[in-house]
Amino acid sequence: MKISGRNYIGYRTSTQNSKTFNTFNPKLNTPNPWSFNEASDEEIDEACSLAEQAFLEYKLIPGVRKAEFLRSIANEIEGLGVELISVYTQESGLPEGRAIGERGRTMGQLRAFASLLEEGSWVEATIDTAQPNREPQPKVDIRKKLFPIGPITVFGSSNFPLAFSTAGGDTASALAAGCPVIVKSHPMHAGTGELVASAIVKAAEKTGMPNGVFSNLNSSGIEVGEQLVLNPKIKGVGFTGSIKGGMALHKLAGERQEPIPVFAEMGSINPVVVLPSALLENGENWAKQYASSIMLGAGQFCTNPGLILATKGTSLDSFIKHLGKEISALESSCMLHPNIHDNYEKEKKELSGQGGVNMVVENEKNVGPNHARQKVVTVNGSNFLKNSKLQREVFGPFSIVVRCEDTNQLEQVISKLDGQLTGTLLGDSTELEKYPKIVQALQSKVGRLLFNGVPTGVEVCPSMQHGGPFPASTDSRFTSVGTAAIRRWVRPITYQNWPEHLLPVELRDENPLEIMRLVDGEHTNRKI
Ligand code: NAP
Repeated sequence: MKISGRNYIGYRTSTQNSKTFNTFNPKLNTPNPWSFNEASDEEIDEACSLAEQAFLEYKLIPGVRKAEFLRSIANEIEGLGVELISVYTQESGLPEGRAIGERGRTMGQLRAFASLLEEGSWVEATIDTAQPNREPQPKVDIRKKLFPIGPITVFGSSNFPLAFSTAGGDTASALAAGCPVIVKSHPMHAGTGELVASAIVKAAEKTGMPNGVFSNLNSSGIEVGEQLVLNPKIKGVGFTGSIKGGMALHKLAGERQEPIPVFAEMGSINPVVVLPSALLENGENWAKQYASSIMLGAGQFCTNPGLILATKGTSLDSFIKHLGKEISALESSCMLHPNIHDNYEKEKKELSGQGGVNMVVENEKNVGPNHARQKVVTVNGSNFLKNSKLQREVFGPFSIVVRCEDTNQLEQVISKLDGQLTGTLLGDSTELEKYPKIVQALQSKVGRLLFNGVPTGVEVCPSMQHGGPFPASTDSRFTSVGTAAIRRWVRPITYQNWPEHLLPVELRDENPLEIMRLVDGEHTNRKI
C-alpha cells in the first residue's frame, strides 16, 4: 500500500490543509520520503461529528459483532506484511525483531478484547430482584450494567508505534467498550499510523461497522490534539507520553464546560529496592540482569529501572562495580528521534550535575547518530532526600543508584518518592516479613509490585495493573494494559422497575448470553 499522507475521516481520506510534515529516520539521520497533511479545523470537526453519529449505532451492536471487528483489525494488520515492519523500523530506529514482536502484541491485545466481548460477562451485570412483600417497605427491581461513554480521542505514544498507538491498547479497549475512536497520530511515526489506520478502516467496512467508528488525524504540533480534547463531542481521552503533555491535556479537559476524563500514562522511574541479602551471593547476576533491563529498547520504556535503592556496604560497592562493567559491555542503540535523543542528553547532563552525584560509568565510545550513551551514577541517601530533581525521569538508558545509610533511611527515601508504575524488591522472601515498613512504603507508591525480577516487560492479561499514583498516571484506579483497560471507557447505568422485555439483553431474566452476573448477591450464570 502506498502511504498517502492523508487524514482518515471515517471511510474517506482527506487533505484539506496544505501544511505538511515528514517523519524522520533516526538511524540514517535523514527525513523519510513520505509527507503528511496536517488535519484542518473542518476535518477535525467532521471526524468528531461522524464519531458522534457512529456512536448511536455502534453502542447497540452486539458484543460478538464488535469482536468480529476487532479480530478483523488484527487480521488486516497482519495482512500489511513486511511493509508495516519496514515503515516501522524506518520511522523509529527500532530493530525488525522488536517491530515483529510489537505487532504480535498489538494483534494479541485486539484478540484478547474480542474474547472478552464474546464471553460477555465484562459488563458487570448486577441484579437485585424485587421483594414486593419486604417489610416495612417493598423493594423494587433494580438492575445495573456498564455502558460506553462516547467518542474517545487517543494520543499514541512515541515509544510503542504499534502496541500503544493507532490500534494499541487504548484504541482496542475503547472500541471494545463500544466507543468510536479518533486517533491523533503520533508525528514521529505517522506512516506506521496510516498503515494501521487503513487496516482498521478496512476491517470496519468488512464487518459492517458504522462510518466514523474510527478516524486518524495527522499533526506535528499540539493544536490538533487540543482541538480534539476541547470538542464537546469527545467524551474521554487516552494518552501515553510525557508528564508535560499529559498534564496539559488533563488541564484542558478539566476546564471544558463539560469536563471529561483524561487517562494519561506518564512518567515513572520504577524504583528497585535491594534488601540486604540480595547482593550477598547474587550481586553479579543482578548486575547483569539490570544492565540489560536498563539498556532494553535504548531505555525507552515506561518501566525502565531508573532508580536503584540499597544500603551502603561492600556488597553494594561490588554490585555497582559489576553493573558499570556489564552496562559498558553492551552496545548503545538508536533512539526514536533526534528530539528524544537530545532531550535524553540534556536531562542526563542536568541530573548528573546535581550536588553529590558521582559517575560510575558513561559510554564515551564513538556511536551512530541518535544513539543513546548509557550512564550510571550514584548518590548518597541524604543528598537524594534533599533534592527532588534527582527523581526526575531521564527517558533513556540511565540509572541512579542511591546508597542509603541503613534500612531506616531506605524507608525514608521510598516514602519521599512520587507515584510510580512499578516497584521491585530484590532479596530473600523472609526479608519481606522482616522489613514490613519498606514493603508498605513501596506498595503505597506503585501500581505493580515485583519480587526478584526486572520491571521491563509488561504481560497483557486480566490481572495486569499498568498505572500508578500520580505522576505515573492521572488516575491510579485504572490500567492501560490488559483487558481491565476497558473500564476506563464505561459508566454504570441502573434500571429501576424497568419492563423486562425492554431491558438490555444482559439484564433480562432468561440470561440468553449465559454471562456471569451478580444476582441477589450470588455470582451465577443461571436464569432468574
Ligand atoms: P509527548 O511529547 O508527551 O507527546 C505525546 C503526544 O501528545 C504527541 O502526539 C504530542 O503531539 C501530544 N502532545 C504533547 N503535548 C501536548 C499538548 N500540550 N497539547 C496537545 N497535545 C500534546 O511524548 P512523546 O512524543 O511520546 O515523547 C517525548 C517525551 O515523553 C520523551 O522524551 C519522554 O520523556 C516522555 N515519554 C515518556 C513515556 C513513559 O511511558 N513514561 C513514554 C513516551 C514518552 P505533538 O508531538 O504533535 O506535539
